[in-house]
Amino acid sequence: MNERLDTGGILAALRSVVSGSKGAVALHEPLFNGNEWSYVKECLDTGWVSSVGKFVDRFEEQLAAYTGCRRAVAMVNGTAALHMSLLLVGVKPGDEVLVPSLSFVATANTVAYCGATPHFADSDLKTLGMDPLKLDAHLHRFADVRQDGCWNRETGRPIRAMVPMHTFGHPVDLDALTEISERYRITMVEDAAESLGSFYRKRHTGNWGRVSALSFNGNKTITTGGGGAILTNDDELGRKAKHLTTTARVAHPWELSHDQVGYNYRMPNINAALGCAQLEQLPAFLERKRDLAERYRKAFAGIRGIEFFTEPEHARSNYWLNSLLLDEAGADARDAILELTNKSGIQTRPAWTLMHRLPMYRSCPRMDLCTAEGIARRLINIPSSAVLGAHRDQA
Ligand SMILES: *Cc1c(COP(=O)(O)O)cnc(C)c1O
Repeated sequence: MNERLDTGGILAALRSVVSGSKGAVALHEPLFNGNEWSYVKECLDTGWVSSVGKFVDRFEEQLAAYTGCRRAVAMVNGTAALHMSLLLVGVKPGDEVLVPSLSFVATANTVAYCGATPHFADSDLKTLGMDPLKLDAHLHRFADVRQDGCWNRETGRPIRAMVPMHTFGHPVDLDALTEISERYRITMVEDAAESLGSFYRKRHTGNWGRVSALSFNGNKTITTGGGGAILTNDDELGRKAKHLTTTARVAHPWELSHDQVGYNYRMPNINAALGCAQLEQLPAFLERKRDLAERYRKAFAGIRGIEFFTEPEHARSNYWLNSLLLDEAGADARDAILELTNKSGIQTRPAWTLMHRLPMYRSCPRMDLCTAEGIARRLINIPSSAVLGAHRDQA
């Protein structure tokens, strides 16, 4: 047992914040308080449940309006959206793609789906996302910048793209990463799966990548059951995304013809109906999540050896998943805290197993990953559902 850390105090602090809820407290659960029933009923009543329908169009328009991106294309899930994003920017078999090792496995899997190799980057303690200084120093050692892009001198492969991810909703340093992407001619794709409602310098995340991917899985800030979308400010790429994700079907009143290998990656109308209802409540969800984060911050302020992670400078986070960081000296108490809290009905969990440690990615190229390793040893995610926070309209 670690003597520097008061595990009982940590449990008490968690309880003081989530005490109002009955029974076990989940890490993240959806909240259906709006027009979900009526919109889904409309799909069932009219028979428009599948791959086309007015809710798909409306959801795409409202997503574009909310994020300030020119085009949003709804898809079956965030993984499909990320796969499509990489295809759209031209990731090909034999390429390398820079991804953070500290991420959900989809960030690397989608690179593998393209026949490309993930090249793992370290994280920054200020954002929990890709560290621009370390990335620059790493690229400086082996990158060969040519007219046709960036080449890895050591492996002989092109480095086609970089995929920064906004960890738990906290925006990465997009200015610095954009500068690197331009200087090294590496296309940026944002994995914004966790950052709907997160802004960097007052602009919504997803506006920096040529294409960006969102997720509406059941545990994300808003949900469509399963779902995702790509965002882009490039009309031509938006058109291509729609075409490729609807089986590359050629528009015609009755003929069924396709002009390339397409994908059935469309979001069904019934899921989009849920999405429209959820999007209407997004501002209220964000208010509740910020209230919850603020109460956690206060509750943990006095506890030695532990830090409640707050939004980086120049960013406004959605606080999708709240995180505690133990001091390095207390890292060996992590599992005891996980055990105590989960046994006490408060769901907590560690960060993802770093991707360079997974069997299928163990031999991929990478930089020194000591910060990601440290975060993985010290981080604990704590309950973050919107329902746990208050908002203005609440009595
Ligand atoms: C959720 C998530 C995805 C994928 O989303 P799904 O909708 O579950 O396929 C991709 N990347 C990150 C970082 C995520 O958190």
